[in-house]
Amino acid sequence: MPNSKIFCNIPWYELNINMDGSFDLCGCQNDKILGTPLGEVWNIKKMTIDEYWHGARMREARLRKLGNEPDKMCRMCQAKDEIGYESSRKKEIMKSAIFLESFERSYEQSPNYEQFKYSEDNQGETKTFPHSLHLNMGFVCNFACRMCNPWASSRLQTEFKQLGWEDRKKKYTHWSDDETGWKNFTNYLDKNGDKLKVIHIIGGEVGFIPKFDYVLDYFIERDLSHDVNFSFTINASIDYTKYFEKLAKYKRVEIGISIESIDEMGDYIRQGGNIKEILKNIEKLKSSKTENMSFAIRTVPSVLSLPSYHKLVEWSWNMGIPIDNSLLVNPLWQQAYLLPDSMMEQIRNNMQRLLEKIPKQQSTEFFNQKDANKINLTIRNECESIINLTMKKRPDHADELLEICAEKLDQWDKLKKINLKDYSKELFELLSKYGYQGA
Ligand code: SF4
Ligand code: SF4
Repeated sequence: MPNSKIFCNIPWYELNINMDGSFDLCGCQNDKILGTPLGEVWNIKKMTIDEYWHGARMREARLRKLGNEPDKMCRMCQAKDEIGYESSRKKEIMKSAIFLESFERSYEQSPNYEQFKYSEDNQGETKTFPHSLHLNMGFVCNFACRMCNPWASSRLQTEFKQLGWEDRKKKYTHWSDDETGWKNFTNYLDKNGDKLKVIHIIGGEVGFIPKFDYVLDYFIERDLSHDVNFSFTINASIDYTKYFEKLAKYKRVEIGISIESIDEMGDYIRQGGNIKEILKNIEKLKSSKTENMSFAIRTVPSVLSLPSYHKLVEWSWNMGIPIDNSLLVNPLWQQAYLLPDSMMEQIRNNMQRLLEKIPKQQSTEFFNQKDANKINLTIRNECESIINLTMKKRPDHADELLEICAEKLDQWDKLKKINLKDYSKELFELLSKYGYQGA
């Protein structure tokens, strides 16, 4: 019997392709092999998807999920499990009808039990195939968000070089522009497109990525879209309703909307955006939505967003859009845990006050955090998870990391000629103590 705190069925059903073509298990993994020597080896530019799926790295990944050692690359799910928030792992194992509340019984009764057992008895080999692809289709982006990285944003590629955080000569190349990488991908689609049930696309900003359109059209042109769940993440800076006619042809569509704060900090964190315009765009999306479409607000709670997070949660509740948070684990100097106890207490009180306003709603074993019909429940969960987060012990090296935070933001803001005090007085006061000045 696998360990209920570790088991995850992703390595039997999902595959993630990073910007450089390297493979990982899923989009939620932290510390991906993207941009590393390992990423050069396990890469769609070097091997087919089938070769990778049956190769040593995937076999190991399956055995690890059946063992007792947590995968360091799955820290985000572990962190969410610890604070009682619905982790991707919890959601994913439900697709195999496995529930944490009754793990042993449901694992043994799972329709996929024989597949897990087969891998256990055959050194991690599998007879399954990925039916869910999580694809990075390009890194062109009009934003330079603080917690993002140059692999995901062309703007950050420029800024990191200006800041001296990246070698000026560094070249970023995308796997989809590589002849072999693209051939391996399209061959896989041509051979297995009818078996794919879930496609999730990230960028960059998908609105600027032509390969997003390619995949969107692919399943429609082959009359497969009615059987596919299509999802993607946007920064809500442009008009996406132009895609709605095509999206209506899919079985289900989920649009993740990334925002971190609805006040000025929204613009500070997500550089390049205008939060007022973004909120208007979200209203337009919501009012033009098709029957098969749902939305989720995608957040990455961090040292910068947590003080104003209650306002965003309340806004989401009023909009009836669930929140799906991915607790920030990288960069370490932006982790939410770094905030001092006094600020955490204030955040807790704000969340508590909001929680008291939201009616209780019955939960079930099959509950999905992104279900808009259970908005009270999902928003209550969000509040409770943040309250739990504020009660975590502050790490011993928090001051050291806050010094790095102050130094990095100071340098970055001087380049941009902005000052944190114009966005958040309390964060400015905090980081000034660690050396932040800004422009
Ligand atoms: S444990 Fe979480 S991060 Fe790891 S593979 Fe499963 S869903 Fe992905
Ligand atoms: S919008 Fe997305 S891809 Fe672009 S910088 Fe922000 S987080 Fe990165």
